Amino acid sequence: MKRTNKVLLIYTGGTIGMGQNIKTGALEPLDFHHLVENVPEFELIQTDVDVYQFTPPIDSSDMTPTMWAKLVTIISERYEHYDGFVILHGTDTMAYTASALSFMLENLTKPVVLTGSQLPIGVLRTDGKENLISSIELASAHHEDGTAIVPEVCIYFNGRLLRGNRSTKQNADGFNAFDSFNFPHLCDAGVNFTYHEHLILKPNFKKPMVPHTHLDPHVMALSLFPGLQEDIVQQILEVPNLRGIVMRSYGSGNAPQTPWLTHLLSQAAERGVIVVNVSQCVWGNVEMSRYDNGYQLQNAGVVSGYDSTVEAALAKLMFLQAQYDDYATICQKMKQSIAGEITLPPNVTMN
Ligand code: ASP
Repeated sequence: MKRTNKVLLIYTGGTIGMGQNIKTGALEPLDFHHLVENVPEFELIQTDVDVYQFTPPIDSSDMTPTMWAKLVTIISERYEHYDGFVILHGTDTMAYTASALSFMLENLTKPVVLTGSQLPIGVLRTDGKENLISSIELASAHHEDGTAIVPEVCIYFNGRLLRGNRSTKQNADGFNAFDSFNFPHLCDAGVNFTYHEHLILKPNFKKPMVPHTHLDPHVMALSLFPGLQEDIVQQILEVPNLRGIVMRSYGSGNAPQTPWLTHLLSQAAERGVIVVNVSQCVWGNVEMSRYDNGYQLQNAGVVSGYDSTVEAALAKLMFLQAQYDDYATICQKMKQSIAGEITLPPNVTMN
């Protein structure tokens, strides 16, 4: 394989490229020239970097599934020209974007590294420079045979490279904005990059990457809490276009045993609404057979999300709902790992 050492930098916006609005004092996205002006180190980077800029750049709170499809198109149309891709993105929805892209870029053989920063690049103490420069290095890193070292959708932040669909924003202020609680880091960046190769996905390098641009966002996240009201849950579950719910349950996947909830969930399943059980805890696994309260959910047709993040479960539902019409297939695929987003307990087999 020819070594190009070429990376495409896709600038979507986010704090990294923001500046202060003189009137309001609030941060707003600025164009890529502003970013480059503040990173003279760009000249020193060994890798060739081309840039694709979202116009206008956005605060990632404005991210949409349509923009995820646009990212997939940008990457797939230029796939052969680059060793890897870096996406500059706001931190607020970065874990959702990383999760969605991990499903939409099937058999990904090149790195797609999302990064950003907590302080704008023009600020003296910015974390943006290191995040940006290391991400470019990680996106172009390859083995001697030319294959990418990290052919995955990842998030690089504060010295660690995380699997994108395992990541969650954990800190609104600190530079350690992300972690992947249920999966170890793919690489730690100190003086050198320490890759944990046994954890990194191994795609089929001989087969092409298959881009998917369709998503069905008729999904909803529902967090359980003591005092949850029947009429409100009923309204949500009976919304006509709803196809999937990520239910954020307690602990190892528990919910109150109150008959109305079990009844509403069973009815939803009968109407073809997929209910996926993901824990409110950031660490650990949903195990519905551990307590009687969880067992009831299983009987009501609720599907285990295992140790999935909420971000990954929502994105996976959107992806599968766009691929398949029938309830049973989507339920079955939800319980399988598509891009390393869940760890199946040893007694569960993938079929
Ligand atoms: N609101 C910003 C965004 O997500 C926050 C950030 O980039 O850190 O775009």
